[in-house]
Amino acid sequence: MPSSLLEYRPAPDLLADKVILVTGAGDGIGRAAALAFARHGATVVLAGRTVAKLEAVYDEITAAGLPTPTIYPVDLAGAGEEDYRALAHALDAHFGRLDGLLHNAGILGQRTPLARYPLRLWEEVLRVNLTAPFLMTQKLLPVLEKAPAASVVFTSSGVGRRGKAYWGAYAVSKFAIEGLTQVWADEVEGVSRIRVNCINPGPTRTAMRAAAYPAEDPNRLRPPEAIMGAYLYLMGDDSRHVNGQSLDAQ
Ligand code: NAP
Repeated sequence: MPSSLLEYRPAPDLLADKVILVTGAGDGIGRAAALAFARHGATVVLAGRTVAKLEAVYDEITAAGLPTPTIYPVDLAGAGEEDYRALAHALDAHFGRLDGLLHNAGILGQRTPLARYPLRLWEEVLRVNLTAPFLMTQKLLPVLEKAPAASVVFTSSGVGRRGKAYWGAYAVSKFAIEGLTQVWADEVEGVSRIRVNCINPGPTRTAMRAAAYPAEDPNRLRPPEAIMGAYLYLMGDDSRHVNGQSLDAQ
């Protein structure tokens, strides 16, 4: 593994013939990841809740002459077991396998003391950031098992490793993602061709970061396109033997 994944220089065809699903592919880091995967040869399944944003990414990928992606609308706040079973069925019918699954979509919730954290928001943040990635992965396991070497990547955060005041349900959901990664990685170790890791993107110039730090100058932050090394590394075969790790993108 390179000492800093910012320096990772993948082969141009790193992801040729791979089918990779990205959640939250319409904006921010997910949009950049979908474009980066397509540029390295992957057929990308663009999943998310705002179809117009997914269509814009679709258009960008096809205009560049890259492998034609697929749009799969899904609202992680409301989707249940049947929805993820239907997704698994659609992927199996269309591609016969899934080589990569990037759980990128997430919501911030409120920056509020736990003493006043609203229950409904707590439940929504945990649903989108934790339960949905868990359930989607569970239902997609059979189609992931059909790939020669599948990579599941969850998204963590700095506050998923060290708790900080007022980060509430978001921080708790990211701690749980670190735990989910470890448990799942241990369960597949040695018995499956699936590997499971997570990425902490680090401070990145997106709408979520601006909402969390409204006074910060976004131009001081790396844009999503600049942190793609970790994402490409974990999706490609260079990381074939990496399992159960929490990597820093920056
Ligand atoms: P972002 O710009 O706000 O993008 C979040 C994405 O998630 C959007 O595409 C959004 O879709 C999607 N999403 C939200 N709720 C959804 C739902 N219910 N169903 C389906 N999709 C949903 O955020 P970002 O900064 O790129 O964050 C991406 C990931 O990195 C998140 O997991 C975040 O926690 C993590 N992260 C980011 C930073 C950072 O500095 N940016 C740092 C640490 C961790 P819509 O656009 O349609 O709402």
